[in-house]
Amino acid sequence: MVDPSGFEAFWFCAYTPLEILDAAGFTPRRLLGDKDGLEEADSYLHPAFCPYVRACLVEGLKNPTAHAAIFVNACDGMRRLHDAWKRLCGSDFIHLLDFPRRNDIHGLRTFQQSLSLLIDELEKFTGKRITLEDLRNAVNLRKEVRRHFHDLSQGSPGSERLKLAQKAQQLDPEEFLKLRAEKPWQAEGIPLVITGNLLNPSGLVALVEEHGVLLVGSDLCNGERPFMVEGEATGDTREELISSLAEQYLRRRHCARMSDAKRRHNQLLHLIREREARGVIYASLKFCDSYIYDYPLAEKFLGNEGIPLLRLESDYQDGHAGQLSTRIEAFVEMLRG
Ligand code: SF4
Repeated sequence: MVDPSGFEAFWFCAYTPLEILDAAGFTPRRLLGDKDGLEEADSYLHPAFCPYVRACLVEGLKNPTAHAAIFVNACDGMRRLHDAWKRLCGSDFIHLLDFPRRNDIHGLRTFQQSLSLLIDELEKFTGKRITLEDLRNAVNLRKEVRRHFHDLSQGSPGSERLKLAQKAQQLDPEEFLKLRAEKPWQAEGIPLVITGNLLNPSGLVALVEEHGVLLVGSDLCNGERPFMVEGEATGDTREELISSLAEQYLRRRHCARMSDAKRRHNQLLHLIREREARGVIYASLKFCDSYIYDYPLAEKFLGNEGIPLLRLESDYQDGHAGQLSTRIEAFVEMLRG
Protein backbone atom coordinates (compact mmCIF):
# COMPACT_ATOMS: atom_id res chain seq x y z
CA MET A 1 0.00 0.00 0.00
CA VAL A 2 1.16 3.47 -0.88
CA ASP A 3 0.51 6.88 0.68
CA PRO A 4 -0.66 8.86 -2.38
CA SER A 5 -0.11 12.35 -0.93
CA GLY A 6 2.54 14.08 -3.04
CA PHE A 7 2.70 11.02 -5.32
CA GLU A 8 2.57 12.17 -8.94
CA ALA A 9 0.14 10.57 -11.34
CA PHE A 10 1.30 11.22 -14.90
CA TRP A 11 -1.39 11.50 -17.54
CA PHE A 12 -1.30 12.04 -21.28
CA CYS A 13 -4.74 12.25 -22.87
CA ALA A 14 -7.39 14.92 -22.23
CA TYR A 15 -9.97 12.20 -21.50
CA THR A 16 -8.18 11.26 -18.25
CA PRO A 17 -10.69 11.65 -15.36
CA LEU A 18 -8.61 13.94 -13.16
CA GLU A 19 -11.32 14.13 -10.49
CA ILE A 20 -10.76 10.47 -9.68
CA LEU A 21 -6.99 10.87 -9.38
CA ASP A 22 -7.53 13.91 -7.14
CA ALA A 23 -10.06 12.00 -5.03
CA ALA A 24 -7.59 9.14 -4.58
CA GLY A 25 -5.11 11.65 -3.16
CA PHE A 26 -2.65 11.77 -6.07
CA THR A 27 -1.12 14.85 -7.68
CA PRO A 28 -2.03 14.53 -11.37
CA ARG A 29 0.40 16.06 -13.89
CA ARG A 30 0.02 15.97 -17.64
CA LEU A 31 3.26 15.11 -19.37
CA LEU A 32 3.86 17.16 -22.50
CA GLY A 33 6.95 15.23 -23.50
CA ASP A 34 10.55 16.08 -24.31
CA LYS A 35 10.22 17.66 -27.77
CA ASP A 36 13.97 18.00 -28.21
CA GLY A 37 14.71 14.34 -27.51
CA LEU A 38 12.42 12.80 -30.13
CA GLU A 39 15.23 10.81 -31.79
CA GLU A 40 15.83 8.91 -28.55
CA ALA A 41 12.38 7.37 -28.92
CA ASP A 42 13.32 5.81 -32.28
CA SER A 43 14.81 2.74 -30.57
CA TYR A 44 11.38 1.87 -29.19
CA LEU A 45 8.70 3.47 -31.39
CA HIS A 46 8.72 3.87 -35.18
CA PRO A 47 9.65 7.40 -36.35
CA ALA A 48 6.39 7.51 -38.38
CA PHE A 49 4.43 7.63 -35.14
CA CYS A 50 2.67 10.42 -33.21
CA PRO A 51 5.48 12.80 -32.09
CA TYR A 52 3.64 13.64 -28.85
CA VAL A 53 3.61 9.97 -27.89
CA ARG A 54 7.30 9.62 -28.75
CA ALA A 55 8.19 12.79 -26.81
CA CYS A 56 6.30 11.49 -23.75
CA LEU A 57 8.17 8.19 -23.84
CA VAL A 58 11.49 10.06 -23.86
CA GLU A 59 10.36 12.12 -20.87
CA GLY A 60 9.38 8.90 -19.09
CA LEU A 61 12.76 7.28 -19.81
CA LYS A 62 14.49 10.27 -18.21
CA ASN A 63 12.24 10.30 -15.14
CA PRO A 64 13.10 7.43 -12.84
CA THR A 65 11.13 8.77 -9.83
CA ALA A 66 8.24 6.90 -8.22
CA HIS A 67 5.01 7.63 -10.05
CA ALA A 68 1.66 6.36 -11.24
CA ALA A 69 0.86 6.52 -14.98
CA ILE A 70 -2.69 6.62 -16.35
CA PHE A 71 -3.25 6.03 -20.05
CA VAL A 72 -6.47 6.30 -22.02
CA ASN A 73 -7.25 3.72 -24.66
CA ALA A 74 -8.07 6.57 -27.03
CA CYS A 75 -5.99 5.87 -30.12
CA ASP A 76 -3.33 3.49 -31.35
CA GLY A 77 -0.57 5.92 -30.38
CA MET A 78 -1.76 6.03 -26.76
CA ARG A 79 -2.03 2.22 -26.59
CA ARG A 80 1.53 1.82 -27.88
CA LEU A 81 2.75 4.44 -25.41
CA HIS A 82 1.17 2.43 -22.62
CA ASP A 83 2.86 -0.78 -23.83
CA ALA A 84 6.30 0.82 -24.17
CA TRP A 85 5.95 2.70 -20.87
CA LYS A 86 5.00 -0.48 -19.03
CA ARG A 87 8.16 -2.21 -20.22
CA LEU A 88 10.58 0.67 -19.91
CA CYS A 89 9.54 3.31 -17.38
CA GLY A 90 9.04 1.40 -14.12
CA SER A 91 5.73 2.82 -12.90
CA ASP A 92 4.55 1.90 -9.42
CA PHE A 93 1.00 1.94 -10.72
CA ILE A 94 -0.06 1.77 -14.36
CA HIS A 95 -3.55 1.71 -15.81
CA LEU A 96 -5.07 1.74 -19.31
CA LEU A 97 -8.55 3.22 -19.16
CA ASP A 98 -11.07 2.31 -21.84
CA PHE A 99 -12.87 5.27 -23.37
CA PRO A 100 -15.71 4.61 -25.86
CA ARG A 101 -15.80 6.15 -29.31
CA ARG A 102 -19.55 6.70 -29.22
CA ASN A 103 -21.40 9.22 -27.15
CA ASP A 104 -24.55 7.09 -26.63
CA ILE A 105 -26.08 4.92 -23.90
CA HIS A 106 -23.72 2.01 -24.69
CA GLY A 107 -20.74 4.35 -24.58
CA LEU A 108 -21.97 5.73 -21.27
CA ARG A 109 -22.26 2.26 -19.70
CA THR A 110 -18.79 1.31 -20.94
CA PHE A 111 -17.26 4.45 -19.51
CA GLN A 112 -19.06 4.08 -16.16
CA GLN A 113 -17.56 0.58 -15.88
CA SER A 114 -14.12 1.92 -16.87
CA LEU A 115 -14.27 4.55 -14.12
CA SER A 116 -15.38 2.00 -11.52
CA LEU A 117 -12.52 -0.28 -12.53
CA LEU A 118 -10.01 2.56 -12.21
CA ILE A 119 -11.39 3.40 -8.76
CA ASP A 120 -11.10 -0.27 -7.66
CA GLU A 121 -7.49 -0.44 -8.84
CA LEU A 122 -6.57 2.84 -7.14
CA GLU A 123 -8.18 1.73 -3.88
CA LYS A 124 -6.21 -1.53 -3.97
CA PHE A 125 -2.98 0.39 -4.62
CA THR A 126 -3.47 2.94 -1.83
CA GLY A 127 -5.49 0.83 0.59
CA LYS A 128 -7.86 3.80 0.94
CA ARG A 129 -11.52 3.93 -0.04
CA ILE A 130 -12.52 6.82 -2.31
CA THR A 131 -15.63 8.24 -0.67
CA LEU A 132 -18.52 10.33 -1.99
CA GLU A 133 -17.04 13.31 -0.16
CA ASP A 134 -13.59 12.78 -1.77
CA LEU A 135 -15.23 12.74 -5.18
CA ARG A 136 -17.39 15.79 -4.48
CA ASN A 137 -14.37 17.79 -3.29
CA ALA A 138 -12.44 16.77 -6.40
CA VAL A 139 -15.32 17.70 -8.73
CA ASN A 140 -15.55 21.14 -7.08
CA LEU A 141 -11.79 21.65 -7.25
CA ARG A 142 -11.66 20.92 -10.99
CA LYS A 143 -14.64 23.23 -11.52
CA GLU A 144 -12.64 25.99 -9.79
CA VAL A 145 -9.63 25.27 -12.01
CA ARG A 146 -11.79 25.63 -15.14
CA ARG A 147 -13.32 28.86 -13.86
CA HIS A 148 -9.89 30.28 -13.00
CA PHE A 149 -8.56 29.31 -16.43
CA HIS A 150 -11.40 31.22 -18.13
CA ASP A 151 -10.82 34.28 -15.88
CA LEU A 152 -7.07 34.37 -16.49
CA SER A 153 -7.27 33.72 -20.22
CA GLN A 154 -9.76 36.55 -20.96
CA GLY A 155 -8.53 38.48 -24.00
CA SER A 156 -5.20 36.68 -24.24
CA PRO A 157 -3.77 35.66 -27.63
CA GLY A 158 -3.79 31.96 -28.61
CA SER A 159 -0.19 31.04 -27.72
CA GLU A 160 -0.58 32.57 -24.23
CA ARG A 161 -3.92 30.82 -23.74
CA LEU A 162 -2.27 27.56 -24.72
CA LYS A 163 0.56 28.07 -22.25
CA LEU A 164 -1.97 28.81 -19.52
CA ALA A 165 -4.02 25.72 -20.40
CA GLN A 166 -0.84 23.66 -20.17
CA LYS A 167 -0.10 25.12 -16.73
CA ALA A 168 -3.61 24.18 -15.62
CA GLN A 169 -2.92 20.63 -16.78
CA GLN A 170 0.53 20.39 -15.24
CA LEU A 171 0.35 22.22 -11.92
CA ASP A 172 -1.19 20.99 -8.71
CA PRO A 173 -4.72 22.54 -8.77
CA GLU A 174 -4.04 24.50 -5.57
CA GLU A 175 -0.92 25.99 -7.18
CA PHE A 176 -2.80 26.87 -10.36
CA LEU A 177 -5.52 28.62 -8.36
CA LYS A 178 -2.85 30.90 -6.87
CA LEU A 179 -1.82 32.25 -10.30
CA ARG A 180 -2.81 35.82 -11.04
CA ALA A 181 -3.29 37.61 -14.39
CA GLU A 182 0.07 38.92 -15.59
CA LYS A 183 -1.04 41.89 -17.71
CA PRO A 184 -4.03 43.17 -19.65
CA TRP A 185 -3.70 41.91 -23.24
CA GLN A 186 -3.90 44.28 -26.17
CA ALA A 187 -3.60 41.74 -28.92
CA GLU A 188 -4.64 42.45 -32.48
CA GLY A 189 -4.53 40.76 -35.87
CA ILE A 190 -6.75 38.75 -38.23
CA PRO A 191 -9.02 36.75 -35.89
CA LEU A 192 -8.79 32.99 -36.51
CA VAL A 193 -9.61 29.82 -34.61
CA ILE A 194 -7.06 27.01 -34.47
CA THR A 195 -8.30 23.41 -34.26
CA GLY A 196 -6.50 20.08 -34.04
CA ASN A 197 -5.07 17.63 -31.53
CA LEU A 198 -2.16 19.00 -29.52
CA LEU A 199 0.30 21.70 -30.59
CA ASN A 200 3.50 23.29 -29.38
CA PRO A 201 2.67 26.86 -28.22
CA SER A 202 6.22 28.04 -28.96
CA GLY A 203 6.35 26.35 -32.37
CA LEU A 204 3.64 26.35 -35.02
CA VAL A 205 1.20 28.38 -32.93
CA ALA A 206 3.72 31.19 -32.32
CA LEU A 207 4.67 31.14 -36.02
CA VAL A 208 1.05 31.64 -37.06
CA GLU A 209 0.80 34.62 -34.71
CA GLU A 210 3.99 36.13 -36.13
CA HIS A 211 2.11 36.45 -39.41
CA GLY A 212 -0.42 38.94 -38.04
CA VAL A 213 -2.96 36.38 -36.84
CA LEU A 214 -4.87 36.76 -33.59
CA LEU A 215 -5.90 33.29 -32.45
CA VAL A 216 -9.22 33.94 -30.74
CA GLY A 217 -9.91 30.26 -30.07
CA SER A 218 -7.73 27.19 -29.50
CA ASP A 219 -9.83 24.07 -30.04
CA LEU A 220 -6.94 21.80 -28.98
CA CYS A 221 -6.62 19.14 -26.30
CA ASN A 222 -3.75 21.08 -24.73
CA GLY A 223 -5.72 24.28 -25.31
CA GLU A 224 -9.21 25.40 -24.40
CA ARG A 225 -11.09 22.23 -25.29
CA PRO A 226 -10.89 20.42 -21.90
CA PHE A 227 -12.04 23.61 -20.16
CA MET A 228 -15.24 23.95 -22.20
CA VAL A 229 -17.36 21.64 -20.10
CA GLU A 230 -21.17 21.65 -20.19
CA GLY A 231 -23.06 21.01 -16.94
CA GLU A 232 -21.63 19.74 -13.68
CA ALA A 233 -21.26 16.24 -12.29
CA THR A 234 -23.67 15.71 -9.39
CA GLY A 235 -25.05 12.81 -7.36
CA ASP A 236 -26.39 11.86 -3.92
CA THR A 237 -24.45 8.60 -3.82
CA ARG A 238 -20.96 7.63 -4.93
CA GLU A 239 -22.35 5.58 -7.82
CA GLU A 240 -24.57 8.44 -9.00
CA LEU A 241 -21.65 10.84 -8.95
CA ILE A 242 -19.39 8.44 -10.88
CA SER A 243 -22.16 7.96 -13.42
CA SER A 244 -22.68 11.72 -13.76
CA LEU A 245 -18.93 12.25 -14.16
CA ALA A 246 -18.86 9.64 -16.93
CA GLU A 247 -21.69 11.49 -18.66
CA GLN A 248 -19.90 14.81 -18.34
CA TYR A 249 -16.74 13.43 -19.99
CA LEU A 250 -18.81 11.96 -22.81
CA ARG A 251 -20.69 15.23 -23.36
CA ARG A 252 -17.48 17.26 -23.67
CA ARG A 253 -16.14 18.85 -26.80
CA HIS A 254 -14.39 15.97 -28.45
CA CYS A 255 -11.32 15.42 -30.56
CA ALA A 256 -11.37 13.59 -33.89
CA ARG A 257 -11.03 10.12 -32.31
CA MET A 258 -14.76 10.20 -31.50
CA SER A 259 -17.27 8.98 -34.04
CA ASP A 260 -19.66 11.95 -33.98
CA ALA A 261 -17.95 14.26 -36.50
CA LYS A 262 -21.15 16.21 -37.19
CA ARG A 263 -21.57 17.36 -33.57
CA ARG A 264 -17.87 18.28 -33.38
CA HIS A 265 -17.91 20.29 -36.59
CA ASN A 266 -21.07 22.13 -35.52
CA GLN A 267 -19.40 23.03 -32.20
CA LEU A 268 -16.38 24.31 -34.12
CA LEU A 269 -18.65 26.43 -36.32
CA HIS A 270 -20.35 27.82 -33.21
CA LEU A 271 -16.95 28.74 -31.74
CA ILE A 272 -15.90 30.47 -34.99
CA ARG A 273 -19.09 32.54 -35.06
CA GLU A 274 -19.11 33.30 -31.34
CA ARG A 275 -15.50 34.57 -31.43
CA GLU A 276 -16.07 36.37 -34.76
CA ALA A 277 -13.19 34.52 -36.40
CA ARG A 278 -12.62 35.00 -40.14
CA GLY A 279 -11.25 31.54 -40.76
CA VAL A 280 -9.73 28.38 -39.32
CA ILE A 281 -6.25 26.92 -39.08
CA TYR A 282 -6.69 23.14 -39.05
CA ALA A 283 -3.37 21.96 -37.63
CA SER A 284 -2.49 18.58 -36.17
CA LEU A 285 0.52 16.52 -35.27
CA LYS A 286 1.88 14.28 -38.01
CA PHE A 287 0.81 10.64 -38.26
CA CYS A 288 -2.44 11.17 -36.33
CA ASP A 289 -4.89 8.91 -38.21
CA SER A 290 -7.93 10.42 -36.51
CA TYR A 291 -7.15 13.89 -37.86
CA ILE A 292 -6.07 12.58 -41.27
CA TYR A 293 -9.51 10.94 -41.65
CA ASP A 294 -11.35 13.91 -40.20
CA TYR A 295 -9.83 16.62 -42.38
CA PRO A 296 -11.79 15.99 -45.63
CA LEU A 297 -15.06 15.98 -43.65
CA ALA A 298 -14.17 19.21 -41.84
CA GLU A 299 -13.03 20.82 -45.10
CA LYS A 300 -16.34 19.98 -46.79
CA PHE A 301 -18.45 21.09 -43.81
CA LEU A 302 -16.65 24.41 -43.31
CA GLY A 303 -16.46 24.97 -47.07
CA ASN A 304 -20.26 24.69 -47.27
CA GLU A 305 -20.49 27.33 -44.53
CA GLY A 306 -18.09 29.62 -46.44
CA ILE A 307 -15.37 29.44 -43.77
CA PRO A 308 -11.81 29.75 -45.16
CA LEU A 309 -9.52 26.95 -43.95
CA LEU A 310 -5.77 26.36 -43.93
CA ARG A 311 -4.39 22.86 -43.27
CA LEU A 312 -1.00 22.62 -41.52
CA GLU A 313 0.93 19.75 -39.93
CA SER A 314 3.36 19.86 -37.04
CA ASP A 315 6.20 17.55 -35.98
CA TYR A 316 5.72 18.94 -32.41
CA GLN A 317 9.30 20.24 -32.13
CA ASP A 318 8.57 22.59 -35.08
CA GLY A 319 12.23 23.35 -35.75
CA HIS A 320 11.44 23.61 -39.49
CA ALA A 321 8.03 25.25 -39.13
CA GLY A 322 9.43 28.36 -40.89
CA GLN A 323 8.98 26.42 -44.16
CA LEU A 324 5.23 26.90 -43.70
CA SER A 325 5.57 30.69 -43.69
CA THR A 326 4.69 31.16 -47.37
CA ARG A 327 1.42 29.24 -47.01
CA ILE A 328 0.44 31.08 -43.81
CA GLU A 329 1.31 34.41 -45.41
CA ALA A 330 -0.77 33.64 -48.53
CA PHE A 331 -3.76 32.62 -46.37
CA VAL A 332 -3.54 35.78 -44.26
CA GLU A 333 -3.20 37.95 -47.38
CA MET A 334 -6.27 36.27 -48.92
CA LEU A 335 -8.27 37.08 -45.76
CA ARG A 336 -7.00 40.67 -45.72
CA GLY A 337 -7.89 41.18 -49.39
S1 SF4 B 1 -6.08 14.36 -29.42
FE1 SF4 B 1 -7.75 13.21 -28.41
S2 SF4 B 1 -6.98 11.11 -28.19
FE2 SF4 B 1 -5.22 12.43 -28.61
S3 SF4 B 1 -4.40 12.99 -26.58
FE3 SF4 B 1 -5.81 14.60 -27.21
S4 SF4 B 1 -7.79 14.01 -26.33
FE4 SF4 B 1 -6.49 12.18 -26.29
